[in-house]
Amino acid sequence: MGPPGAGKGTQAKVLADRLGIPAVSTGDIFRANVKDETPLGLEAKRYMDAGNYVPDEVTNAMVRDRLSEADAGEGFLLDGYPRTLPQVGTLDAILAEHGHSLDAVVALVADTDVLVDRMLRRAKVDGRTDDSEEVIRHRQVVYAAETKPLLRVYAQRNQLVEVDGVGEVEEVSERVLTALKTLEG
Ligand code: AMP
Repeated sequence: MGPPGAGKGTQAKVLADRLGIPAVSTGDIFRANVKDETPLGLEAKRYMDAGNYVPDEVTNAMVRDRLSEADAGEGFLLDGYPRTLPQVGTLDAILAEHGHSLDAVVALVADTDVLVDRMLRRAKVDGRTDDSEEVIRHRQVVYAAETKPLLRVYAQRNQLVEVDGVGEVEEVSERVLTALKTLEG
């Protein structure tokens, strides 16, 4: 977990690779569906373009399907899910049905003002017009309102590992792996 721009996707791929489990990114699955113009993609696009969350029913059904695939049988790393309280409930149910349990929730900590500045600079440099300043700022507001409260839920369950997300990719990955070891111990 972590605010938009904190590097969740990058870290998820590195860590899943190191742990030998698939990274399941709801954002990537939505983007692939948008690209292929599937019915799911057409529905999700409206929300994504505005910086809003895709409705829980749609997202939960998609995650349920994905986690039933064979490669998720021995574990997985979720990137960008859960993001709302109802999604936490659905994840609990899916895990219980599969006889799995959650090992840890990793939160990448970063100053949202710094992240917004960086994303705005990048959008300008890359000439990207798909992400307007308004949408970039709106995503942070949605994160603070909908997703940040989940950190407390997982902290109360003693499953939350908070890691400084500022630094080189390798550096942050090492911090996460070290922090996960402390949780095991
Ligand atoms: P991401 O790449 O994780 O930032 O996701 C890109 C976009 O996909 C988000 O801004 C949302 O519109 C949508 N999305 C990804 N994951 C979720 C989720 N768990 N719940 C609702 N919408 C999501």
